[in-house]
Amino acid sequence: MNKKITQLIKYLNSSSIITILSGAGLSTASGLPDFRTNDQGFWKKNKPVHFGEFVQSKSARIKSWQNNHAIRASIKDKKPSLMHGYIVELLRKNKLNTHITQNIDGLHYLEEIKSQIIELHGSVFNASCLNCLKKYDPATFYKSKVKELGSTSCTSCNDGYVKTSTISFGQKLDEQQIKKATLASRRCDLFICLGTSLKVSPANQFPQKAKARDANLVIINREPTPLDAIADLVIYDDLDSIYEKIK
Ligand SMILES: [Zn+2]
Repeated sequence: MNKKITQLIKYLNSSSIITILSGAGLSTASGLPDFRTNDQGFWKKNKPVHFGEFVQSKSARIKSWQNNHAIRASIKDKKPSLMHGYIVELLRKNKLNTHITQNIDGLHYLEEIKSQIIELHGSVFNASCLNCLKKYDPATFYKSKVKELGSTSCTSCNDGYVKTSTISFGQKLDEQQIKKATLASRRCDLFICLGTSLKVSPANQFPQKAKARDANLVIINREPTPLDAIADLVIYDDLDSIYEKIK
């Protein structure tokens, strides 16, 4: 067997707490594009709405809801990949294992492990009022309010706008999620990056935080990343093909 795979299996078996950081590469096996990357097909057809526009303009808010509805529609028939399944098993093994993800597609999500998942860029399957934080089911809200009444107002406080929890361009990330991800990075003894280019901050800071606390750092991606030089193990491959070798 490939030396690198042997080393990966050794790390997986000998580590006590594992933190995973995933990016778009985790969902490509499920047939999804990278929704955050501006030059991909989706955003060519659907103009992204900047957070500033969302707050200021009604038509921008409607457009933002239409975009997110289109993303949810494109995910509807997609299934989690083999590597998604493997990560779920890792989380089930130890309550301290954590999955930090940049993905908004929810394919990594299961109710039973939700406290171990950190969605840095939010999820298209959550929505809340920007003012009172009341939570809404986005599919229901889109159908009954946005489409039916042309409104994005909160029915609870009547003062705020309801927004899908995905982080828009120009919108700050959730501080609580960053704190949780920092904690998970500092306490693990194995940190694995899966299918992420590690070019986006703050996501790319978490592996460095783990490394600073002497965790072993593994990077698995199709292309080289800026953090390859500090990693203990780097593998350039598709995630589902790695899964076949380590399962
Ligand atoms: Zn509200």
